[in-house]
Amino acid sequence: MAKKLKSQLIRLKCSECGRIGYTTAKGLAIKEKLALSKFCNSRACKKHTLHNEVKIK
Ligand SMILES: [Zn+2]
Repeated sequence: MAKKLKSQLIRLKCSECGRIGYTTAKGLAIKEKLALSKFCNSRACKKHTLHNEVKIK
């Protein structure tokens, strides 16, 4: 039987304008908060900024 990978969906929020532009999955075993450099498509940014993890309720 195939082993299911446990993961949770999270959102990535721009640290500069607060826009949530990405949804991704993170393994439940990973305790650290994700912070990734992603392209922000909002009018305020239009550049790569740091995106922080936010939980999906
Ligand atoms: Zn932004």
